[in-house]
Amino acid sequence: MTMKPTGSIQIGYRAMKKAVVANSLFPTFRVGQWLRFPLLKWLTPLGSMPHERQLARTSKNATLAISAFFSWLALAYCPAALAAEPAPGKVLLEELTSFELREKIATGTTTVLIPIGGTEQNGPHIAIGKHNVRVKFLAEKIAQRLGNAIVAPVLAYVPEGAIFPPAAHMRFSGTLSIPETVFESLLEATAKSFKQHGFHDVFFLGDHGGYQKSEARAAARINQAWQGDSKFRAYGLTAFYEAAQMPYTQILRNKGFSDAQIGTHAGLSDTSLTLAVDQSLVRTHLLVQGATTSPADGVYGDPRKATAELGQIGIQLIVDRSVQAIQEAIKQRAVR
Ligand SMILES: [Zn+2]
Repeated sequence: MTMKPTGSIQIGYRAMKKAVVANSLFPTFRVGQWLRFPLLKWLTPLGSMPHERQLARTSKNATLAISAFFSWLALAYCPAALAAEPAPGKVLLEELTSFELREKIATGTTTVLIPIGGTEQNGPHIAIGKHNVRVKFLAEKIAQRLGNAIVAPVLAYVPEGAIFPPAAHMRFSGTLSIPETVFESLLEATAKSFKQHGFHDVFFLGDHGGYQKSEARAAARINQAWQGDSKFRAYGLTAFYEAAQMPYTQILRNKGFSDAQIGTHAGLSDTSLTLAVDQSLVRTHLLVQGATTSPADGVYGDPRKATAELGQIGIQLIVDRSVQAIQEAIKQRAVR
């Protein structure tokens, strides 16, 4: 004996199956099957005698009722309860659920920004996590402006030179360094993961100078692998890093600061940018005390005149230039 569900149940069952498959809700699906198919097996030998047929009909009805109940349960709770809103305003991947992210991708959020920081010394006055905090802050602002972008978790482990004998920042406590090959592989795998989830444009935003070439190399290799599919592209967003260099430096010069003050690492420029993002990262009492610092302290520049207001100018510049470069890159990719 075979049992076919009634029309309505069949619709319910199909809808349930569709909803379940769509939502990957396999545990609930299995509950329905688990209760349903043992009953089918139990009913199979019945039906040879009239009272058995009656019993079979009664049991069949009971089975159908149970089946219908589970179909209803699945329909009532699965799609409705699991339907996710695209979570407007939220751009940080780590703050979204997977279902919210899926909705965002389906409704056109197909750009992802991969913020790259670094864990390095910044003299006596800036905390070691400077790059990580700053790049997350900036990437979030850029994504909000773009309106169709998500910000990936910050990559905090980056190449900082030889570990032993220690080179550059590695000579100071707290700096962490990984090999360039490892870093580039990390970028490649991360970009490929985002493509797998439906993102079309993957941007690397690096806050530190040393690995800009690695970003470009990784992007070139990724694009080589994606050659057959022009919808997908990876980019080392040099505009992000470069905005904080020459254009910002020029503004500071115009305000009367010397190159020796502006500096390249933990100086006036770097410290001002950090103050604009998160004042708690800067030991401002050391700036006020006015003690001079030098490369021997891990400082290249003079941070004593740094202010959040000066930093705010740089923040605006980085966000504006990055948004412009990203929009232009996507436009170029679309017409290829
Ligand atoms: Zn750096």
